[in-house]
Amino acid sequence: MKENQFDIAIVGGGPIGLACAIEAERAGFSNIIIEKGCLVNSVFNYPTNMTFFSTSDRLEIGDVPFISHGDKPTRREALEYFRRVVDAWKLNVKTYETVNDVVKSQDGFEVRTDKATYQSRYVIIATGFYDLENLLNIPGEDLPKVHHYFKEAHPFTFQKVIVVGAANSAVDAALETYRRGADVTLVVRESEIQPGVKYWVRPDIVNRIDEGSIKAYFNSEIREIREKDVDVHTPDGIITLENDFILAMTGYHPDFDFLKKIGIDLAEDNTCLPSYDPFTHETNVSGLFMAGVVCGGMETNKWTIENSREHASRIFRYLKKK
Ligand code: FAD
Repeated sequence: MKENQFDIAIVGGGPIGLACAIEAERAGFSNIIIEKGCLVNSVFNYPTNMTFFSTSDRLEIGDVPFISHGDKPTRREALEYFRRVVDAWKLNVKTYETVNDVVKSQDGFEVRTDKATYQSRYVIIATGFYDLENLLNIPGEDLPKVHHYFKEAHPFTFQKVIVVGAANSAVDAALETYRRGADVTLVVRESEIQPGVKYWVRPDIVNRIDEGSIKAYFNSEIREIREKDVDVHTPDGIITLENDFILAMTGYHPDFDFLKKIGIDLAEDNTCLPSYDPFTHETNVSGLFMAGVVCGGMETNKWTIENSREHASRIFRYLKKK
């Protein structure tokens, strides 16, 4: 086979991109993974001290055992694990190379990156959702004190921090910054902390709110952010809170422009669900497949590593038959 010519090109070197490459190896298809950042870039960008909600056995791919110190592995252990998976399977991963376009050609596809063009018979899109944040779309959001990603709590010690959101990432950020000496206020659009928050963490945040160590405004939204304070719309009207930092933990979404550009149809409702066959994961573009959390559109909780590892075997069961 010629250089830059493969049976399968996989866009995205996250856990599910790796799972697809392993299935390709098992099925005897030549393959390449093209990843725009470092290996498992999303996992790398998770909060530094993050612990997975899944036990390590549920994150295993390619029959490589994942042993962690606790029941639930840490981000650091996961990075180590996925490096070992690539090594064990000798996967062909190109990092720091961005796929800009995927175009139909006579024999399959042309995959165009910022560094090269590859030919492949089939393409799998496993691009996740962690690159694009859901914006608040309010004045002042572009101030440097507003963060949509949380790495660690230390910079927020002694600071007045508002955390926006009520799901896992907001709760983790609120508790971690509170325990590192920040003065924390939660601003939550809904009426309560989300029931889906990790069951061993939820009582902690609820108790901190009940005892007043972390303040919380429910059924509330930030309306404007300024250098030193913010306006919050609460059920009792607009209030102004002094503030040093905003951690807007309002979620992320897939790169819909990219999906549309390469021809994948998206649902026209709020879900923006991509069009693919749930049994084969082939999209409306013949020969173009999707795998992993990107398949959920705006429903970013729908797929996890646990339940989307299976996408890789579904795709290759179908391709082997073909
Ligand atoms: P990703 O890991 O997001 O991989 C996609 C990759 O594609 C990225 O590396 C990205 O850089 C790359 N990419 C994107 N666009 C391009 C392009 N144009 N060209 C080249 N590369 C591109 N799931 C669980 O099962 N258990 C858990 O405990 C768990 N904890 C989570 C905790 C957090 C904080 C978050 C955000 C998610 C968690 N998930 C968990 C959910 C999910 O499993 C992860 O998001 C997982 O990383 C998804 O894997 P993926 O391979 O589908 O996507």
